[in-house]
Amino acid sequence: MTTNTLLEETERELRALATELTEPADGECLLCYLDRMLDQFGCTTELRWATRYRDLRAPRATALVRRLGQVGGCDCEVFINGYQLAREHWIPPRRYVEDGITYETDPQRPDPMPSCRGVRRGSTRGCSLWVRGTGSSWDVW
Ligand SMILES: [Zn+2]
Ligand SMILES: [Zn+2]
Repeated sequence: MTTNTLLEETERELRALATELTEPADGECLLCYLDRMLDQFGCTTELRWATRYRDLRAPRATALVRRLGQVGGCDCEVFINGYQLAREHWIPPRRYVEDGITYETDPQRPDPMPSCRGVRRGSTRGCSLWVRGTGSSWDVW
């Protein structure tokens, strides 16, 4: 299958998706959008949601998908390899004692997620909720 056919097919599928559910909100940044789509629809093992954001919000950002492709091959890898919710938004680990043994919970992502801090139209940056970093940077809390 050529790249072109693949692209055409992806585009057909995208059109078939319910548009209002998969549209970036006004001012919503790329990363909040990706996070929301992954939460609702899961990863398609492609940079499909990133591509959709680009097409709808930043059509001139032609290098975006290639740039993200260097971070990860699909939407969820953008987070696994590249960006994390900034530490101050996490629910910090909690210590508790049960039967005389001290346990510590893992830091938790807030649910619901804080709402997007917003970016200007056409920007492909994440808002201030996100920082560059990988999961391992959270090992030391
Ligand atoms: Zn993925
Ligand atoms: Zn955001």
